[in-house]
Amino acid sequence: MADHESVLVVGAGPVGLAAALALSRSGYLVRIVDSAAEGARESRAVVVNQRSLDLLDHLGVSADLIATGVKLNGVRLVSGGSTVGTVDMRFLPHAFNFLLALPQSETEAILAEHLALEGMRVERETALTEIYQDASRVHTVTVHGQDRREASYDWVLGCDGAHSFVRKALDLDFPGGAYPFQWSLVDLDIDAGASMEWGEVHLDPGRPVLLRFPIAPHRHRLISNGPDVLDRVPDSWSIGTLHWSSDFTVSHRHVTAQGKGRVWLAGDAAHIHSPAGGRGMNLGIEDAVTFARFLRKDRLEEWAKWRLRKGETVLKESDRLQNLATADQSLVRRFGPRVFGLALKIPAVQRAFITRNAGLFDLKP
Ligand SMILES: Cc1cc2nc3c(=O)[nH]c(=O)nc-3n(C[C@H](O)[C@H](O)[C@H](O)COP(=O)(O)OP(=O)(O)OC[C@H]3O[C@@H](n4cnc5c(N)ncnc54)[C@H](O)[C@@H]3O)c2cc1C
Repeated sequence: MADHESVLVVGAGPVGLAAALALSRSGYLVRIVDSAAEGARESRAVVVNQRSLDLLDHLGVSADLIATGVKLNGVRLVSGGSTVGTVDMRFLPHAFNFLLALPQSETEAILAEHLALEGMRVERETALTEIYQDASRVHTVTVHGQDRREASYDWVLGCDGAHSFVRKALDLDFPGGAYPFQWSLVDLDIDAGASMEWGEVHLDPGRPVLLRFPIAPHRHRLISNGPDVLDRVPDSWSIGTLHWSSDFTVSHRHVTAQGKGRVWLAGDAAHIHSPAGGRGMNLGIEDAVTFARFLRKDRLEEWAKWRLRKGETVLKESDRLQNLATADQSLVRRFGPRVFGLALKIPAVQRAFITRNAGLFDLKP
């Protein structure tokens, strides 16, 4: 029985915000806290996939996301300066048959606006510092400046990111490892020479991978598994203003259980993986929205097994995709892009690839 049951959502990244909205709509009393002073300013995740759009559409959010983002036909695979294959979302038999590019900061801002319409706001600069549970309640301490607040809830959902305090408090393993690359990314204007209709993956023997996604008129996100993404820019692009840049390393890890008792995990708190395929934020939004549905139906154990399985699958797939793109073996580097491009011309392969990257697989536990 959801009415009047309470849930503390820890973390107000895209996953916590989506969870708070879904839980509130399902009739729960929700409190959402975040230790940071403000939401993401950076673009970070830039693709909202079809599965997220489906789930957020039920919460009335997707129309605003679509109105703000850039609708792309899909992704072109480019090698030696020519297109050798396409992943074309227009073939997807789905209401959202496009790729929506939208900076994570905008996704979060729109989710926060919808929370505000529910009369809810994120309690900022408020950190969860203690948590323990008994059979019927979860007991917590949050700290905001000098204020220390003790409170108990029926449920807690940890959406507190890769270094999750909630996961550590539950003493859950987070096995995996780190990839050996330094990734670099920039958001910048390309004044001419780059398509606004397509994202691109550039694969060339002996060079780092380059990904490009348009995110606003003239503005593009570039990402590379090399130390300086700007070294990788084709001569044909006319580069304008640089808006943001970042270097990061990537790990692949997954919890061995999605939670315990009355405390559960969603998003990066439960799984982190390669950005190949753009699945991270989307998988987390799916964790969050389905958590509310399964909690309402008293089927959380089932939810937990399903999310664990789906997280493991996405982790393996993004790992495979990344290995394909960054393989050292010269034969794979030389012929891989063209072979992959040819394979994408086979309708069944195209369909399977699109469906998985849209997140439209394993939709039920
Ligand atoms: C540079 C960069 C580029 C990326 N690019 C992509 C991409 O292209 N595609 C993609 O899919 N993903 C990408 N990601 C990953 C994507 O940003 C994450 O998957 C996504 O942010 C996960 O959302 P989340 O809500 O689970 O966690 P987060 O966004 O990390 O949010 C967690 C929140 O919890 C809060 N918090 C932490 N501890 C506590 C506590 N004790 N109490 C209260 N609050 C707490 C934090 O302040 C934070 O706001 C990128 C990430 C980075 C850093």
